[in-house]
Amino acid sequence: MNSWFMQLMPEFQNLQVFVPIASTYLAISTPILAIKFSDALKNRKNFKESNYVLAKNIDHTNTLKPTYIKLSARDKEEMQKAINALKTPEELQNIADDFFEKIDPDEQRNCVRNLESLGYKHISFKDDIKLHLKNFLSSTTAAAWYIPGLNKIEDLEMMPTRKVLCHEFLHMASANSICAGFQGTRYDVNTGKYNVFGSGINEGYTELLTCRLFNYDLKLCTYKIPVKLTRLMETFFDNPEDMKKAYFNGSLEELYIEFCKYGSNEEFWSIMHDIDNYAYAPLSFDFINSIGTQMRLYKVIKRSDNPEKIKKFEDILDENKFIALARRGMTFKLDDGIKKEKHI
Ligand SMILES: [Zn+2]
Repeated sequence: MNSWFMQLMPEFQNLQVFVPIASTYLAISTPILAIKFSDALKNRKNFKESNYVLAKNIDHTNTLKPTYIKLSARDKEEMQKAINALKTPEELQNIADDFFEKIDPDEQRNCVRNLESLGYKHISFKDDIKLHLKNFLSSTTAAAWYIPGLNKIEDLEMMPTRKVLCHEFLHMASANSICAGFQGTRYDVNTGKYNVFGSGINEGYTELLTCRLFNYDLKLCTYKIPVKLTRLMETFFDNPEDMKKAYFNGSLEELYIEFCKYGSNEEFWSIMHDIDNYAYAPLSFDFINSIGTQMRLYKVIKRSDNPEKIKKFEDILDENKFIALARRGMTFKLDDGIKKEKHI
């Protein structure tokens, strides 16, 4: 899911965007604010429940490093034929061309398979008023989304931006029958429910890769907090390409294994839980909360005793001026420039 709304953090300060008639602003915006807030809190509760179940059940000593299928030269030829025969939805054609040019063929398989049957639909306000209103009232308003179960991209905008479509394209390209990128589901026999996990890191990495692959400015990205935490997580890998490989193979396990070289099972799920919250139940004070999550990750990477990894981590960490100064025990004054910036 990619939300233009996420760019408007903190969310509650920007409700006038939705309510153009000044005279009705107060009367309308108050209940919307209340709905968005309770919606965000409900989402947080759901994530907490699903992740805590997982944290108790998973033991990292039993998690095996995944092995990925390598394509032979003949497989690659067959895949190229399949790519040539694709009937990609018009809206996504030049994004697909870019993707196949930039991504290693070993990481293209899910994309090719999904593109063979991908559905694309624009849903106008007239088509489904209820859906538009529900989206409008949600704490995570979206312009478009990919539905893995139906292998379908839907958009609600008249003209979705290319960047939004690139983001959804990557969700599609990283989805197999079990996982979508780093987001997985697990059936809980006790409750009879499917728990979703890894959604936050999945959004963070999808947005990060959208900016990198399709040349968008990372400073203007959506999902700002998950993106920063994802970049910090990436430093756990000896080679960042391995994180990309894990993503396109739907393997949160790989991330888990890299993390657990220095961190514990509990730490991993607790950090995953935080990132889920920042992505799907964002609240205005998350900018402050996320500093705590970053410092917890910092504590873990420092156990690596690997100066190169730690330095890479610190460089990303210090993009937040507050953290950079606080880490050095320096005091600072809040001036207007600092106050206007979003420090993540
Ligand atoms: Zn998304």
